[in-house]
Amino acid sequence: MKSPVHRCRDVEQSRGQAWARTTLFQTEHRIPISKDVITSSSASAMWFIKDACGIICAIITWLLVLYAEFVVLFVMLLPSKNLTYSIVNGSLFNALAFLALASHLRAMCTDPGAVPKGNATKEYIESLQLKPGQVVYKCPKCCSIKPDRAHHCSVCKRCIRKMDHHCPWVNNCVGENNQKYFVLFTMYIALVSLHALFMVVFHFLYCFEDDWTKCSSFSPPATVILLILLCFEGLLFLIFTSVMFGTQVHSICTDETGIERLKGETGKWEKAPCWEAMKMAFGGPFSLTWCSPFSGMSCKKSSTELDTLPHGDIIEEDVIEIPLN
Ligand SMILES: [Zn+2]
Ligand SMILES: [Zn+2]
Repeated sequence: MKSPVHRCRDVEQSRGQAWARTTLFQTEHRIPISKDVITSSSASAMWFIKDACGIICAIITWLLVLYAEFVVLFVMLLPSKNLTYSIVNGSLFNALAFLALASHLRAMCTDPGAVPKGNATKEYIESLQLKPGQVVYKCPKCCSIKPDRAHHCSVCKRCIRKMDHHCPWVNNCVGENNQKYFVLFTMYIALVSLHALFMVVFHFLYCFEDDWTKCSSFSPPATVILLILLCFEGLLFLIFTSVMFGTQVHSICTDETGIERLKGETGKWEKAPCWEAMKMAFGGPFSLTWCSPFSGMSCKKSSTELDTLPHGDIIEEDVIEIPLN
């Protein structure tokens, strides 16, 4: 946030523009602008952030899940003599892993709530038909009109509505439109890790009782190394994603994003009650669809390149006040 002095200076610089008369305002009330007005989410193009670090992290995530899949199937379940045990655990593990990867894809390829770039133009602001005295903010980095609770992400190079944080593991920002998928991703990864850990413990117990050469199609040393690595991966992911899941649910419940907490911006908006906030984040009243990465949420996608840029001159100042007369 800028200091009032800075704001006044920005405003001072633009004296003389009739349409945005620049008055010095002592108390400033930022009136929320309708979300639909400010985000003209356009084309159905796919949302994907071209960030090398994020892409590598996302690939690593997939490889780690595939490694767990390999060990669970080829080291533990397929060599097992108990067919029922293998079918039940194999189905459960694969279902959880599939839901985790589907949630990851949805979190990565859903527009988190990007504000159209470069819409801070005279024509566009006039088209908003704002009330006299209303104040709007311009993001100096992407030249967009910044809605309430939006923050600029330097990786996505866009202002994101209700941005929580930029997560390299899903190579995307976590914002208003994809928070559900991120929460599901952390939940399913935690569950799949827990399930893998249980299976590893059972397999170790089984192998200790039985002959080591018969409990896996791999040599005993290779089996032990593969299982220990899976155990380590499972523990690490279980702890990390459980903490992340808890933090996200807490953020939704308190209607306060990670960035807002970090910047101490709390208390600047009317907070929604916990259950209402959950319904908003998960796209409707409680039902099984809350757990599905394939349903709910507006899947509007807009692309950095494909957003239709409004025509006209970009407004120079960061704070724009609509004239009173
Ligand atoms: Zn911005
Ligand atoms: Zn971002």
